[in-house]
Order: sequence, then C-alpha cells, then structure tokens
Amino acid sequence: MIDLRSDTVTLPNDEMREAARDADVGDDVYEEDPTVNDLEARAAEVLGKEDALYVPTGTMGNQIAARTHTERGQELLCEVESHVYKWELAGLAQHAEVQTRTIEGDERGVIEPEQVRAGYVEEDLHRPGTGLLTLENTHNSKGGKAISEEAIAAAAEAAHDLDVPVHLDGARLFNAVTALDTTAADLVEPVDSVMFCLSKGLGAPVGSMLVGSEDFIDQARRVRKLFGGGMRQAGIIAAPGLVALENRARLADDHERARRLAHGLDDVAGLDAEEPETNIVLVETDAHASDFLDACEQEGVLGVPFDDHVVRFCTHWNVDDQDVSEAIAAVKQAV
Ligand SMILES: *Cc1c(COP(=O)(O)O)cnc(C)c1O
Repeated sequence: MIDLRSDTVTLPNDEMREAARDADVGDDVYEEDPTVNDLEARAAEVLGKEDALYVPTGTMGNQIAARTHTERGQELLCEVESHVYKWELAGLAQHAEVQTRTIEGDERGVIEPEQVRAGYVEEDLHRPGTGLLTLENTHNSKGGKAISEEAIAAAAEAAHDLDVPVHLDGARLFNAVTALDTTAADLVEPVDSVMFCLSKGLGAPVGSMLVGSEDFIDQARRVRKLFGGGMRQAGIIAAPGLVALENRARLADDHERARRLAHGLDDVAGLDAEEPETNIVLVETDAHASDFLDACEQEGVLGVPFDDHVVRFCTHWNVDDQDVSEAIAAVKQAV
C-alpha cells in the first residue's frame, strides 16, 4: 500500500529509534530533561526567537498559543479555512474561550491587511475587543500553499498597528521555508509566536514546538500544564524530534515528488491536479471523492477526501520516486 493520506504517517528510522533509546532524560515538568531543553533551545535558535516549548501535538500548541495570547471573551481573527477554525473541534471556544471572527482569504488562503483592519473590533462597553490574529503557513486546506514573507508581514503589521498579537500556525513551516527559498527566522520574524510540527514532513514520531518570546513561553508553559501537556521523561520522544529538526533539507524531495505526482495525475482523463507549491497535491475528480478513493485503495493507494470532488495526496519521506510512479499508474487504473 502506498500511503499518501498525510505526511504524519511516516515511521521513525533507525537513527531516531537509537536517539530515543540513548536520550538523557529527567523530569521535564521541573525543566530537568536535558534532551527536551536541547530541543527547545534548538527550535528557538532555528526560528530566531527567544524561547520554545515542546508540546505533544500541533493542535495543543495552537490552543496553548490562543489561550496565552487572549483573555476570555475576546475575539480571535483567523482565515475561514484555517486549521485552528476548521479542524480543532472549536477548541478556540473551549480552551481559550474566545469568539472567532473569520476572514475569507483568497484562493491561496492569503488575507489582506485591509481585511485585518476590517475584522478588528475595538473593545468598549458593548464589544469584546480583538485579542489575536492567527495565520497559517503552509495553508493546508488550500493545498499546501506557501504564503510569502511579504504577505505574512503585511497582515502581521496591520494587526500590530492595532495592538493585536499574531500567532502563526506553521504546522508545515519548513515546507513553506523550502518552497519560498528563505529562512525560517526571516519568515516568522513578523509574528509573535509560531507552532510547527516535528511529526509531519520532518518525520518525528510525535511532537510539535511552540516558539516565541521568553515571557510568552513562560506563560505558555503554565497553560501547557493546565491542558495536561506537562510530560515527565519526555526526552525519549524529544530525541527523535531533535533528529527530525535537522531533517529540513529533505523536504525539497517531497516537493519534487509532489510535482511529479500532480503532473502524472493531471494527465489522467477525469482528473484535474493543480500545480503543487509544496508536498500537498489536491486532485479534482469527476467521480465522488469517496468512490474515487475506494477505487484507489483497491489499487493500493491511499488519500483523503477534501471535498465532494476533491481529494488530497501528500508526499513524505516514506514515499520514494518508485512509489510515485507506481501511485500514478495505480490511480490511472482506479479511474
Ligand atoms: C496537522 C496540522 C495541525 C495540528 O497538528 P497535530 O499534531 O495533528 O495536532 C495544525 N495546523 C495545521 C495547518 C496542520 O496541518
């Protein structure tokens, strides 16, 4: 089976398993796990921020960020197709206790500074005030679009001019960095906090990082404890995360394979695949997405439905060139 459902399905390699076995560990709730401390220091360094916090999942990282930046009853501004709004079980309402105000981004998920200004609510006797703007890069629901430094900076500047902090959901931050040929530090410079996943394209078995100022991370550490995310000898899982963090250069291979997959599928009658920017390939099918995916599975390829007639295929480090060729042939057969 060629599993293209997500870049989260990767299995840790020997280097990661050895790193886990050999990790120096301690109680991370007391901040005494040297491996977790190393991972947090390295993540902060790579992103050019002061500090970082190791969290079990990307979802928890985003939720901690929202809770930390906002006060109960405020509004949070986000793009309407963003993960924090669409795929986190209304956690913003449950964990941060904020009201969400959505902005409709363009076809790539980009939101304009004017939209930030239009969505802003000033606090008064009747209105709650805007507590946070969240951005997403790459934009998952729009097909892994890499949002430019200029677009991120413009939206963030509009928010900051209104004294609203900005959190970036960078679950696939390094895919964006790779596609834009920039550095992570430059790309996230305009935002106050960033979440990125170790467990996606970078290949770690588990874990995400929340990154920001020292003061923000101090507060976020308390919220992580509140949410039940304070882990003990977490160095066992952080050690493969450290290996994963140095796995960034390989994302270019995923992008190249995604392009080849998209071209191959686009040539199949009845399928329409747009040119991918990163490792996510969205395919429009004449058939209903679930029927199409059933047929693909019969031929040995897995994907996920994204809409009635849209499916997502993801390339990742357990997919090689041969798999891409086989997947194209199998999907053709399925059609
Ligand atoms: C996967 C993902 C998350 C959540 O990460 P988990 O580790 O699965 O909780 C958040 N945002 C985006 C854009 C994602 O793709």
